[in-house]
Amino acid sequence: MSISQDLAYLRAADLDEALRHLEKDGACVHGGGSDLVTCLREGTVTCAQVISIGGLDDLRAITPTSIGALATIAELGRHEEIERRLPALAAAARAVGSPQLRNQGTLGGNLCQKPRCWYWRGDFHCLRQGGDTCYAAFGQNHGHAIFGAEACVYVHPSDTAVALTAYEARVRIAGPGRSSRTRTVPVDEFFVLPADDPTRETVVGRGEIVTAVEVPAPPDGHVGVYRKIRARGAWDFALTSAAIVLAFEGGDRGKPVRHARLVLGGVAPAPWRAAAAEQALVGRRLDESTIAAAAEAAVADASALDHNGFKIDLVQGVLREELQSLAG
Ligand SMILES: Cc1cc2nc3c(=O)[nH]c(=O)nc-3n(C[C@H](O)[C@H](O)[C@H](O)COP(=O)(O)OP(=O)(O)OC[C@H]3O[C@@H](n4cnc5c(N)ncnc54)[C@H](O)[C@@H]3O)c2cc1C
Repeated sequence: MSISQDLAYLRAADLDEALRHLEKDGACVHGGGSDLVTCLREGTVTCAQVISIGGLDDLRAITPTSIGALATIAELGRHEEIERRLPALAAAARAVGSPQLRNQGTLGGNLCQKPRCWYWRGDFHCLRQGGDTCYAAFGQNHGHAIFGAEACVYVHPSDTAVALTAYEARVRIAGPGRSSRTRTVPVDEFFVLPADDPTRETVVGRGEIVTAVEVPAPPDGHVGVYRKIRARGAWDFALTSAAIVLAFEGGDRGKPVRHARLVLGGVAPAPWRAAAAEQALVGRRLDESTIAAAAEAAVADASALDHNGFKIDLVQGVLREELQSLAG
């Protein structure tokens, strides 16, 4: 399928030039293009001018506390410092799609990619397309949400976003107009739920560019894992995933949990923090009964659609297995 829209294309020389052009009507950001080009072909995204930021080398750097938006998913997955410091993020990056997609896709694009709902991406004038119905809510919804499914029931597709939420990352956004006008948003406020606005997925506004993700130092002695369940071994999005970051008193896995972040993917329109499960863990030893209580608490508010009740069991199973593996 070819792109049927007329497009102008600009490869920006620096961030100010990119921001200046993005102020114009119908301009859009091109990171690696692995999702944008598909959306332009499908007509789910319309754009008059594509602004490539691929030449902005300042946005590629990975430092201990900040990851540039143009760092590729492959770079994140093999970066030694990320592996040592943020193991759940490295594992999430390695779980994305396929080697080709990880080489081409950037962190900024991975966070800002569009949902994969087959109704929205198909020929349906659904709520997200400006219509008045979410067809997935009563149609083929085995891949759709069991949490936060109000108005529109798509699930957020990014693996890295789930891990970044567990690490309490912040997203740096520049613009509009000048690169010096930046704001920083906690990643758990970065995504917009459809009940608030079904036509957008993130707080990134017109004329803005995600420039980096800042990740604070995790608690001393923490452990982190990312587990993804998908229908195929590669080239596939999460049916359910979980990022878990824990720290134990005195760094001893036999002692009570002092810090817990549990975030679910593939089950909600944004990475979904399992706050009740975290509460079930903190202050307790990670034994069988604590793990069972946490897994149960994680799904207490879940609400299945006609075809995705299996996700409730998946969430519980994934949390049980991963927490058991961390119990030492
Ligand atoms: C077959 C297939 C399987 C996949 N499987 C997975 C998977 O398992 N897990 C997963 O997480 N992803 C998966 N993906 C998605 C893939 O990882 C994304 O396509 C990729 O991460 C997007 O990165 P990009 O740099 O190519 O973004 P682009 O395609 O360039 O952009 C994507 C969107 O983000 C916007 N954007 C890009 N960069 C910025 C920025 N810096 N600031 C503001 N907006 C920006 C663009 O305007 C566009 O709307 C899959 C994709 C395909 C096609």
